[in-house]
Amino acid sequence: MSNNINSSIKCTVEQCKHHCDSSDYCTLNCITVGTHEANPTVDQCTDCLSFER
Ligand code: SF4
Repeated sequence: MSNNINSSIKCTVEQCKHHCDSSDYCTLNCITVGTHEANPTVDQCTDCLSFER
């Protein structure tokens, strides 16, 4: 984790290595969002594909 906040990407997944230490933001310059569903209908169907433990 680092403190290089990207203020354009809010995120609450504290377990991700790209999450900011001190606030709910991502530290990457860019992320990829995808889905694990054939026909996504709600936000729970989407995933951050840039997540790393
Ligand atoms: S890579 Fe995705 S899950 Fe990880 S901190 Fe950034 S937005 Fe959140």
